[in-house]
Amino acid sequence: MVPDALQRRPLGPLSLNTATVREQWSLAQMIEACARHGISGIAPWRDKLDELGVERAAAMIRSHGLTVTGLCRGGMFPAADAEGRRAAIDDNRRAIDDAATLGARCLILVVGGLPVASRDLAGARAMVRDGIAAVLDHARAVGVPLAIEPLHPMYCADRCCINTLDQALDLCDELDPVRSADQAGGGPAALGVAVDAYHVWWDPGLDAALRRAGPRRLLAYHVCDWLVPTTDLLLDRGMMGDGVIELRALGQKMRDNGYQGFDEVEILSRRWWSVDGDTVLQTLCERHRQHC
Ligand code: ZN
Repeated sequence: MVPDALQRRPLGPLSLNTATVREQWSLAQMIEACARHGISGIAPWRDKLDELGVERAAAMIRSHGLTVTGLCRGGMFPAADAEGRRAAIDDNRRAIDDAATLGARCLILVVGGLPVASRDLAGARAMVRDGIAAVLDHARAVGVPLAIEPLHPMYCADRCCINTLDQALDLCDELDPVRSADQAGGGPAALGVAVDAYHVWWDPGLDAALRRAGPRRLLAYHVCDWLVPTTDLLLDRGMMGDGVIELRALGQKMRDNGYQGFDEVEILSRRWWSVDGDTVLQTLCERHRQHC
C-alpha cells in the first residue's frame, strides 16, 4: 500500500535509459513509449542510436518533446597500443558529435579498464586521463559536457578503473580546474560526473563527494536498485524499491547539492528484459513515485 501523500506527490522529471528495455524495443518504439507513459527524458545507448540513425533520432526525439539526458556512452580509453588508443579517441569524438546533434545534456564516459593481458592499473588510469584530455577541447567547442561515471569496483578490470566519485572528481579538477562554466556564470562544467546509485551507494565518502561536486559537476543521476543477493555482475540490477539502496535519501542529497536534472532509470536486468515493455515502464513510473 502506498500512502496517499506519496501518490499525490508530483512525478519528478523522469528519463528512460534505453538499456532498461533494450531487448524489447527499438529506439523509435522507446521514444513513442516515453510519450505514452508521460516520461519526459530519454538517454539512448549508441547501438540503438545507430540503428535509427542519429539525425532521424534527433528529429523524432524533438518532435516528441523529450529531453536527452545523456548519450551512453563514450570512454573505453585504455588500449594495448598507440593505435588502439587513437581509435578510442576518434570514437569518442564521434560520440561527442552525436551527442551534440541530439542536444544531449552530457556524454556519459565509462572510461575503460585494463588493456588485454595488462596488470598495470596505474598505467590504465593514466591512459584514461590522457584520453579525456585529448577530447575535452572538442567537447567544449561543440557544447557537450563530459560526464565521468564511476563504476562499482567489481568492474575495475574490464569496464571502468574510475571507481569512486572522489576519484572522478580528482580527474575533473585536474583536467578542468576552472570549472569552465563557473566563470561564465552558469550552466554545467565541461567535465563533471554521472552519479549512478548502483555504483556509488556503498561509498562511505559519498556525501562529502556530492558536496564537493556541487551543481556544476553533477551532470546526470542514474537510478536502479541493488538486489540481495545479486546473481550476475552485470545483468541483475533491481527495479527501484526491490533492493537496499536508500534512493529517496540519495535523490534528496543530489538536489541538496544543486542537481536539477532528471532521474534516469537504467536497469540492466535479464529479468526485466523478459517482461513486456509497457509493463516495465508502468512499473518504473510507479516505483519512481514511491521510492525516488
Ligand atoms: Zn549508469
